[in-house]
Amino acid sequence: MGNTHTPSHPGPPQTKPRLRVTDRDLEVFRFVEDYQVLSTSQFRKLLFPSLSRTRKRLSALSDAGLIRRFKRAVMFGTGSAEDLWLPTKKGIQLANSYHTRAKSNGVGSYRRGSYSELFLDHTLARNQFRVDLEVAVRQTSGATSMKWRQGSEISVSVYGVIGNPPRLDRVTLVPDGLMDLQSSGSGTSFAVEIDRGTCTLGRLCKKLEFYRRFYEQITEKLQCNHNSLRILVVTTNCKRCQSVRRKLQSSIPASGGVDDLIWFTCLDCMSRDAGGVLSQEWITVHGKRKQLVGDLK
Ligand SMILES: [Zn+2]
Repeated sequence: MGNTHTPSHPGPPQTKPRLRVTDRDLEVFRFVEDYQVLSTSQFRKLLFPSLSRTRKRLSALSDAGLIRRFKRAVMFGTGSAEDLWLPTKKGIQLANSYHTRAKSNGVGSYRRGSYSELFLDHTLARNQFRVDLEVAVRQTSGATSMKWRQGSEISVSVYGVIGNPPRLDRVTLVPDGLMDLQSSGSGTSFAVEIDRGTCTLGRLCKKLEFYRRFYEQITEKLQCNHNSLRILVVTTNCKRCQSVRRKLQSSIPASGGVDDLIWFTCLDCMSRDAGGVLSQEWITVHGKRKQLVGDLK
């Protein structure tokens, strides 16, 4: 690795030095496939000791066609431009040719078009949450582990009476992610809903109501930890968070344990440092304070 001096013997002058693929590179390919798109700073949090080394290595991998660089004018949440990275077929094939590590988190084979620019902000917001959790769990001592599921794997269809006038219909729900958090033998599953403020308040509330009304069916179909499911809602800002909670207060009773199901926070209130994510404070519809790990102890 590093700089090699120019060979004294004659050779093809334009040939690039061969890239030596490291274990960490294989992790890069797996992460970028699993997350669909990652920013340079997200990669830094997951795998690298510094931002400059992250940039350098990702550029080298991109030059070799093993990942793809995607430039965007403004980076979500930070207001600054940052490179984004996408998987390539070549990189994934290379990762799959090594069997040094068991596949985790449902990493599959390369799917062309699995990434959509239309949902870029949403995907990045979801990934930010997931990256922070992944890092926080790694830093936590003890038997804490996290498994993340997303996409078609957690698509749930249930039959129920809905609408006005009421009719029996099938409703399909796909959470943005499903996190199974395990600590000292007990575990809870958390469905994650990232609200980008793009749908109406009514629609969002309807979706959250749906979780509550079909709770048993949903937890069973999602194979939740100990049949225990909590819904985590991350809204764009405090105002939106308050509006949703206020609207739900009329339909969700404060007593009887129902209020424990749905927890809220917003992007402004979300802990920025990865270690803080597990102790992040969430709030229920009626104002109870909750913590991810507090529920596990
Ligand atoms: Zn807030």
